Amino acid sequence: MASVRTVSSMNIHEYQAKELFDRFDVPSPRGKMAESAEAAKAIAEEIGSDLMVVKAQVHAGGRGKGTFKNGFQGGVHLTKDPADIGEIAGKMIGETLVTKQTGDEGRLVRKVMVADAVEIKHEYYLSMLMDRDTSRPVIVASVEGGMDIEEVAENRPEKIIKQLIHPLAGLQAYEVRKLTAALGFKGPAAKEFGKLLKNLYKLFVSLDCDMVEINPLVETKDGQVLALDAKFGFDDNALYRHPEVLAYRDIEEEDPREVAASEFDLSYIGLDGNIACLVNGAGLAMATMDAIKFSGGDPANFLDVGGGATKEQVVGAFNIIQSDPKVEAILINIFGGIMDCDIIANGVVAAVQETGLKLPLIVRLEGNNVAAGRETLKASGLAITGAEDLADAAKKAVASV
Ligand code: GDP
Ligand code: MG
Repeated sequence: MASVRTVSSMNIHEYQAKELFDRFDVPSPRGKMAESAEAAKAIAEEIGSDLMVVKAQVHAGGRGKGTFKNGFQGGVHLTKDPADIGEIAGKMIGETLVTKQTGDEGRLVRKVMVADAVEIKHEYYLSMLMDRDTSRPVIVASVEGGMDIEEVAENRPEKIIKQLIHPLAGLQAYEVRKLTAALGFKGPAAKEFGKLLKNLYKLFVSLDCDMVEINPLVETKDGQVLALDAKFGFDDNALYRHPEVLAYRDIEEEDPREVAASEFDLSYIGLDGNIACLVNGAGLAMATMDAIKFSGGDPANFLDVGGGATKEQVVGAFNIIQSDPKVEAILINIFGGIMDCDIIANGVVAAVQETGLKLPLIVRLEGNNVAAGRETLKASGLAITGAEDLADAAKKAVASV
């Protein structure tokens, strides 16, 4: 499994992935995105193929086997009659799709993709990701691709092929041949697959992806090798190098609390407990969550405000924390290494006054100018509980709920 990260990986839609495939010469069927039934119909007429597919565009997989809350079956629909496309798109747009990956609440579908539905001879699985153990890209592939890949991984792991790539040497010709043979591609299809693999690796490295998953990669009845589905993850830390990828971000697909947090430069991950925490530094935030657990409580979130903790950030954090109805207390744990604790204390006091915070607030401050900081908290007259150290803070937070 991937290690714990304070920054998550950005996802994009399938129709956007297709634009990136085009840029890097990774073949995929013709298709376009539509936000209304009429637009979907117009695209179908433009493509004018004998067999077409309408695909719900959400940041979640398992669409083929998903169900809409209106009863409509499947987020991936094939039809031979272009006249049907408008109706199918109409049953998807504005409706909620539930798949294995969305949870029971499902995802609201705002867009669909209409594409040329090729005739499939065989479905393969192909992905590239960063292997955390070896710190190298790894290519994962299987002859048994398609909608049951999870079942293959669980019951027939020998059917999953893995090839580590040396990051400096890049993908080698012999590695391409090895994968081509292992998947059983022959003749012109073998050549097509080799080209696709090389171009996909170029895309993966050039765009700082941390994952590209094509499931299925297909061989068509007329011998083409095409990417029929695509799931991308981009390393957030490298997104500044790719403004065109960042422009693909679809905020409506993200957790609203995490979106709000990113606006204030906060790393926030929602959890299920009732004690919210606000900490400077990812390691200290982890330790704070552990301390809450150790004292018999449950953290409501991971929240790292970074090196400092400005009044604006604390106000932003309080608002996000209070939007979670499960939260019953807040623990602030700040280590003022370079930051002056008194400045932080003033920020906390101002944030409590500005947001009219009603929840029990436990504050542990330590570091540079800490005496003045504690005095500021006390002198504010607000109901802020001070703490001696982290263990004391965790105990007091657990006792307050
Ligand atoms: P997912 O269920 O979210 O992974 O969506 P996919 O895009 O992978 O589609 C699910 C399944 O629908 C695929 O495994 C294919 O069997 C089928 N499918 C998707 N697109 C096409 C297409 O263009 N032509 C055909 N014949 N089948 C398709
Ligand atoms: Mg798929």
